[in-house]
Formats: sequence, structure tokens, C-alpha cells
Amino acid sequence: MRTGGRTDRRTGSREEGGNDGTRERRGAQGAPFVHPGPDPSNPLHTLPIQFVGSFPEALVRVDPELPEIAFIGRSNVGKSSLLNALVGRPGLARVSGSPGKTTLLNFYRLPGFYLVDLPGYGFARASKGARAGYRKLVTGYLRTRPSLVGIVWLLDIRHQPSADDLDMQKLLAESGRPVLAVFTKADKLTRSGLPVRANELAEALGLQQDQIQLTSSESKLGISELATSIVAAAVQEDS
Ligand code: GDP
Repeated sequence: MRTGGRTDRRTGSREEGGNDGTRERRGAQGAPFVHPGPDPSNPLHTLPIQFVGSFPEALVRVDPELPEIAFIGRSNVGKSSLLNALVGRPGLARVSGSPGKTTLLNFYRLPGFYLVDLPGYGFARASKGARAGYRKLVTGYLRTRPSLVGIVWLLDIRHQPSADDLDMQKLLAESGRPVLAVFTKADKLTRSGLPVRANELAEALGLQQDQIQLTSSESKLGISELATSIVAAAVQEDS
């Protein structure tokens, strides 16, 4: 999933114009009122989406077989929030108060492709058995899933990569699949601190600028750009 030529779009300039997935209008005193609404520039907001099911098997057969784009990241990285923001349905994936509970692959069908929500890794309180089960499921999926065409790998922009993140990076590289690294929770940083931190994290991971996308499920920074990359990757494989 290559995402070249996106430098401007990654900087957050869209946020300033109120064109970031929210509709803004000014009240009588000039105070802004922000209303969530579909973003016409986000292709995933206009497509129908259907929850297919949750499966404990890496090689589960889904009918019809279509290209799959998978989402993976450390527990609590903001994966459910990002999925909800991407498709514009706040309740689609459950934003968890107690991370690390599910070890299932969640499939969502859109016209021509699936989004697959993989369970989060690095949950500190997981038992040894649970970790082994997780590894088998996720490794099996990433290595052998025939219709997997792209992986969205989530990292919290505030933190240095954990040992689990680095393990995952190895696994992703071994899988040979196209990967886009998504840095989440960008709204937690200041406007000036954001590009500095993004560069630091990219460098720590050995990633080029066209391999990363900054996002915030709160401010909607980078969400429509990510949606566009996802649709492009899925459709390219489909045609
Ligand atoms: P998951 O475990 O990876 O699915 O993460 P969740 O989506 O459940 O989010 C974990 C926590 O981070 C929740 O408290 C979310 O409200 C919060 N969160 C997720 N995304 C963002 C974001 O973009 N900005 C901020 N400020 N908080 C976020």
C-alpha cells in the first residue's frame, strides 16, 4: 500500500478549514459549533458496510472471497476508534474500556473488499496461554491468508515502539504484505510538536514518509486520506 505524494495532506492543514469530517458553523457570538457528519472526501463514509462475523481461525472461509485489508496494533492504540472514524459509524467497533479481551478476527464487508480487525497485541495481563493463542492466530493470518492485500499497522504517536511493536514489525516484514504505518492520537500533541515527533517515530522504525500516515480519531486528522489509501489498495487488487 504505497502512499506517495501525500506530504501536504499529512500535515493537518485540512483541520483548519473545518473540512475534516466535521461541519462547522458559527453561532451569534462567533463561537464555533462543530457537528459530526459524513465527510464527502472520505470514500468509506458513503459505502455500505456490514459486520460479517468474529472468527477464531486464521484460515476461516468467508463468502464471497474478496481482498482483505487488516488492522493491527498494540492493545489500546486506538484501533476501534480509528475503524469507527474511518467508516463514519461511531458504534461499529467497540472502543474498549478493558483492552486485550478478544482474540477473534472481526470481518466487515464493503462493496468489493473486507476490513479485518485483528486483535490487539501486548496486553500486559494476558496469560502465557493467551499469548500463544494470539500469536498462532495472528501469525497464521498474516503469513498465510491468501486474500490479504494490505495491512494498516497502528502505533501511538506518543510512545517509542515497544518490544511487541518491534516483534510485529518483524512479522509484518516476513509476511511480505504491503504495510502502511498509521500513527494514532495525533491530537494529543501540539501543532508544532506533531511533525517533530512523527519524524522521530518514523526514524525509530526505519520508515520513510510515504510509509506513514498521521491520524486522530478525535480531530479526524488524516482519516479521509487513510480511507482513500485503503480503497485504492483494495480496488487495485480487485481489478
Ligand atoms: P483499541 O484497544 O486499540 O481498540 O483502542 P480504542 O479505540 O478502544 O481506544 C483506546 C483509548 O484511547 C480510548 O480511551 C479512546 O477514547 C482513546 N483514543 C482512541 N483514539 C484516540 C485519538 O485519536 N485521540 C485521543 N485523544 N484519544 C483516542
